[in-house]
Order: sequence, then C-alpha cells, then structure tokens
Amino acid sequence: MSEPLEGETIAATSGVDQDRAHGSVTPALYNSVNFRWPSPTQKPAFDYARSANPTRAALELALSQLEGAAGGVATNSGMAAIDLTLQGVERGQGVLAPHDAYGGTHRLLLTRAKQFGFQVDFVDQTDDTAFAKGLARNPALVLIETPSNPLGRLIDIQIWSHAAKAVGARVAVDNTLMSPARQKPLDLGADLVIHSTTKFINGHSDVIGGAVLARDAKQAEDLAWWANCTGLGQGAHDAHQTLRGLRTLFARTRQQDDTAMILARHLRADERIVAVHHSGLKSHPQHRLAHVQQSGFGSVFSLELHSSLSVEGFIANLKLFTLAESLGGYESLVCVPATMTHASMNEAQQARAGLKPGLIRVSIGLEHPQDLADDVQQALDHTPLV
Ligand SMILES: *Cc1c(COP(=O)(O)O)cnc(C)c1O
Repeated sequence: MSEPLEGETIAATSGVDQDRAHGSVTPALYNSVNFRWPSPTQKPAFDYARSANPTRAALELALSQLEGAAGGVATNSGMAAIDLTLQGVERGQGVLAPHDAYGGTHRLLLTRAKQFGFQVDFVDQTDDTAFAKGLARNPALVLIETPSNPLGRLIDIQIWSHAAKAVGARVAVDNTLMSPARQKPLDLGADLVIHSTTKFINGHSDVIGGAVLARDAKQAEDLAWWANCTGLGQGAHDAHQTLRGLRTLFARTRQQDDTAMILARHLRADERIVAVHHSGLKSHPQHRLAHVQQSGFGSVFSLELHSSLSVEGFIANLKLFTLAESLGGYESLVCVPATMTHASMNEAQQARAGLKPGLIRVSIGLEHPQDLADDVQQALDHTPLV
C-alpha cells in the first residue's frame, strides 16, 4: 500500500471499522453530552461534548488526513470557522484580506476588527504590487480565498505563503470552492485551511458547517482551545451527516467539474453571453496557474449576459437551476451575487471587487450535462430584451 493514501481512499476509509464495542463498520453517532470519568483525577479523552466528542473527532480526523493537517476543528458554520481563525489576532495587529472576499467574511472581518481593535486591510490580491504593499504593513494574519467567489480569480498560494512567512504572518486559505479533492493549501505552504463544509464537503445542501485545519500540531491545539472556550464546535448530529457526505466528495467533484467545463464551453460559444469566468477556459487570466495549483477547475463559475438581455427574465426561464444562495451541492443553482450572497457589501465595495450588478453565478450539480445545456439554451432563447 502506498503512503500517504490517495484522497479517494481516505474519504472512503477514514474512521471505518474502528468500533471496539460492537464492531460497527461505519462510525457511530455519539450524541452523549457526558463521558464517564474513571476517577476525579483521571480526565478521559472525551469528557464533555463541547470540548470534543467522538463523532466530531471522526470528521476532524478525516478532514485533517485529506488536507495533510496535524489536526483541526469542525465548526457549526463556515463563518464560525473564519471567526475561529480570527481568535488569535490581537488588538493593534493587522489582517490582510481579499477585497472580493465572500460577503459574510467581509462583514465578519469589518465587525470583529472594530470590536476587537485590529486593523483589516482589504486588497486586490491578484494585483502583486497591492499584495506586496499589504504584506509590508506586517499583518499577523493573511487570509486568501482562491478561487474567489464569484469571479473565480486565483491567488498563487505557494508564492504568497512564502512572502507572508518572510514578514512573520500566518496564512489561512479558504478552500471552500475547491475542497481537498482539488487543492491542498497546506502542501503549498499555508498554515491554516478553512472550509464551509456546507458546500462541497457535505455536498447535499442539508447541513451548515465549517472547519479549520492546521498544518502544525501547536496551532491545532490552539484552535481546539478557542473552540472549547467560545463553543463554536459542530454538534455530533451535523458532524455525522457531514462525514457521510464527505464519503462521495471525489466522485461528486469529478462529475460536477466535467459538467461545469462542458457548460462553460457551451456558454462561451454563445454570442448572447459576453463573459464566462471559468478557470478551465483559455480566456481566464490565470488559466495556467489553475493547472499548477489545482487538480481540476471546480464546478462554480460565473457569467455575464449581453446587456440587451434581462437577467431576471433569463433566470425565471431556467427549469433545472434553482435561484438560491449556496453552492457545491448535488443540485444546480444560480444566483445573482450583487443582491444575494454579496448584498452585505455596499455599491462602492461591490464595484471595487469587480462585482457587476448583472453577474450570474452558477453552481453545477449532478444532473446530466446535456439536460443542463438544453435548459440554458431554451432559457436564453426565451429571454426578453431589457
Ligand atoms: C459559504 C461560504 C462561507 C461561509 O460558510 P457558511 O457555512 O455559510 O457559514 C465562507 N467562505 C466561502 C468561500 C463560502 O462559499
């Protein structure tokens, strides 16, 4: 057997056949709050479920193995994962974040910065000069989101992790849009990797969850300390369901990525679409980096209709795509970031992030590619002019 195991094998085997009580093959769901102490001075490995519980631990172990981490914490949402990452930042320190960060991340950073007295610096991380200037201000933490949501801009994790380390900053990469099936930030030099497991990792759009994984054991310990202190660890039921979703991550991403590529090419060839932001297309500004840094292009991309067409009319005509906020599930979704996922950014902030009002984000599910292509075709054919 080759070591370390491939991701597919880890996803399928982590925690399987470990039960000594009954020989249960799949990991059991332990919903007990309390675990018995042998004596008042002998603290058991699990004592109180907020600090740790065996079900959440099974998910944390699987995610750590997949990301090549020493350990980490499964949290009750992706936002809780970002918040956990911010716990180590102190008054007067700085956080360098992308100007087009996930809307909720942008809001959380601004809110916590004001409340806790740290500085947050939003820069266009695709602009090398701006990124380097941001690092020159000596931030304690650099947050990277690659690919960015919804424009799919890529940041070179290896180069910027190296540069951040040179100024003493920790680097956290939000890997939600790629998942460990497509990108391994810790292998590229990042210190922490963040997920909204709500998206690809669970993959079934029926659990809200998140995770932060650390390359180094001391940082993993700190994360566990803060998670216990603040109580943002994921509940056992949600962790159990997320681990179940994770089992099929690789099979899902393979099919979803293939379908997304077919659709992106199809849309690119239609003159009624003026832009398709998909890193697998040669027209994408960081197409080459996508080949190096990722093992695939993902299944979330965005597009712009010709200005003569009604965005609302197009969306209303779609039959197989639901207008909804999330991404990464088995069902195809569309959303308009400006008024939906990124509504907490004001007009100026959106303009700065390059977020046009009519931009449409697509998340491709597990439907047959031909059915999705036909649906988009008929929706375009019937789209009214503005
Ligand atoms: C959805 C998302 C989040 C937030 O996760 P929740 O589980 O909704 O709290 C953070 N970052 C990215 C990139 C996301 O897509």
